[in-house]
Amino acid sequence: MAQEEIKSFVATARKWRPQKFEDVVGQEHVTTTIKNAFKNNRIAHAYLFAGPRGVGKTTTARILAKALNCNNLIEGDPCNECDMCRSFNSSQSLDIIEIDGASNRRIEEVRTLRESVKYAPTVGKYKVYIIDEVHMLTTESFNALLKTLEEPPEHTVFIFATTDVHKVPLTIISRCQRFDFRRIDLQTTKNQIKKIADSENIKIDDASLTIIAKKSDGALRDAQSLFDQVVSFSGKDVNSETIIRMMNLINEEIYFDVSDAILQKNFKFAFEVSGMIYEKGWNFIDFVNGLIEHFRNIITVVISKDTTLLTSSDVYFENYLSYKDQFNEGDLLRIVTFLNNLLKEIKNSQDQRLKIELGLYQLIGLEKSSTISDLLKRINELPADSSNPLPEKKKLIENNVPFRSASVEKKEELKNQIEEKPKAEVNQSIDSFSLAEIKSRWSSFIDFITKSDKLFCRNLIDSSPKSFDGKNLLVTLAHPEDYNVLKAEDSFINKILFDFFGKNLFIDFEKNSNILSYSDFKNAEEYKQANLENESPLIKAIITELEAKEIKSH
Ligand SMILES: [Zn+2]
Repeated sequence: MAQEEIKSFVATARKWRPQKFEDVVGQEHVTTTIKNAFKNNRIAHAYLFAGPRGVGKTTTARILAKALNCNNLIEGDPCNECDMCRSFNSSQSLDIIEIDGASNRRIEEVRTLRESVKYAPTVGKYKVYIIDEVHMLTTESFNALLKTLEEPPEHTVFIFATTDVHKVPLTIISRCQRFDFRRIDLQTTKNQIKKIADSENIKIDDASLTIIAKKSDGALRDAQSLFDQVVSFSGKDVNSETIIRMMNLINEEIYFDVSDAILQKNFKFAFEVSGMIYEKGWNFIDFVNGLIEHFRNIITVVISKDTTLLTSSDVYFENYLSYKDQFNEGDLLRIVTFLNNLLKEIKNSQDQRLKIELGLYQLIGLEKSSTISDLLKRINELPADSSNPLPEKKKLIENNVPFRSASVEKKEELKNQIEEKPKAEVNQSIDSFSLAEIKSRWSSFIDFITKSDKLFCRNLIDSSPKSFDGKNLLVTLAHPEDYNVLKAEDSFINKILFDFFGKNLFIDFEKNSNILSYSDFKNAEEYKQANLENESPLIKAIITELEAKEIKSH
């Protein structure tokens, strides 16, 4: 870079800092209101600008301060030409005081401020105090400030800016005119960076603009400094490959490879992609986040059948559109739920690569839900009196599998792992699970289920498991009147049973019972003895020999 170029380099954020309300990007709801207030001569004594970092709060505060003192307002905007505007623009105005709340948070500084507030502005109409990060002030400082706000001198205006408005006391907020600044949306950020690039004769492609806008997450200032970095790295011709290399970003193509692998049941790809992420040094959590966003994009094309809701660079629009009839909403919902769970697991995992591998493997194994509902429908249509219906059902399943790259057995296995099966037909692991075990943990289960906010769960309190055939659990109710209520909620209870025991159990109730419930006994000991008769020999032995006590108290 030539010497002059280095000298003349001014950070884009500074160079493009708006000098009037009209130039503030993406906050029209704020700037229009303020301009109208000026036109109607309605000046407040205190303003509060709240919102995320880097979206234009301080910039707007400065324009407001300048406008308050401008001698020649144009449609509510400062003229930038009068003496007042010029002295402010060259940072020489004595009437506009900027204070950083983070470094001037102590009471002494606020007291000094209160003193200075008493003096009239030197030349301008108003003395304007801009306090940035106002939430950082101490409680004492807030109290001192409040006294000033209660009786503000005629010529004083406060502008507070904060990223954490909930940390600002309500007594302060209530004395301010509040404006909430928004995150700047993707397209607006892209447009603004493009505008800057054009005016600097820098070529930049849409994919690069998208990367910059996404990375900056709604903060234009961040987008501008990222743009500076990118330009200093790649010069006057910015392309996405260079940015991806420079920032070691995950190449978005990989997400399309994943969704294609799901459609094609390409199980091998799970291992290829995790290897690739590992080798390139990409972050596994970023990868899953990116994948979630990718499926979010697919959902938008499936729902709207067009590209209006995509948050992606337009080079991928065609790719997304091609998915509009390939995924259905049910599949996508399950995929996104699965990925959100995977994300949680990965964050706590020692071996993220392994988790990703298995996670993708499961994801690719997810059956298309249309196929499953078709299957269920066809199975239900089978003649009920068929003497040996199973082989026929299995044949049906085989014939109906749309992608055949993996063996049917493997798919069955995967389905068992992944699907929350609505029907009982697939649960082999239940065999080893006995009535005795269910009984031994029943009171803990009651504790568990009564913690839910569903009132009817309390009707289970005096219940007791009676029989269990490997999947169907018959429970005896102490109070016959509970039967209908619980029966109506059996799917909810089944879900909680699954959460608690980790098995698919299907509950049914028996209402006519002679079981003795706790309320029939005078004390816990008597109750235990009576119920001991219903326990399995093992549990009996544990309770009597080891004098085991119930941990929970009724
Ligand atoms: Zn002016």
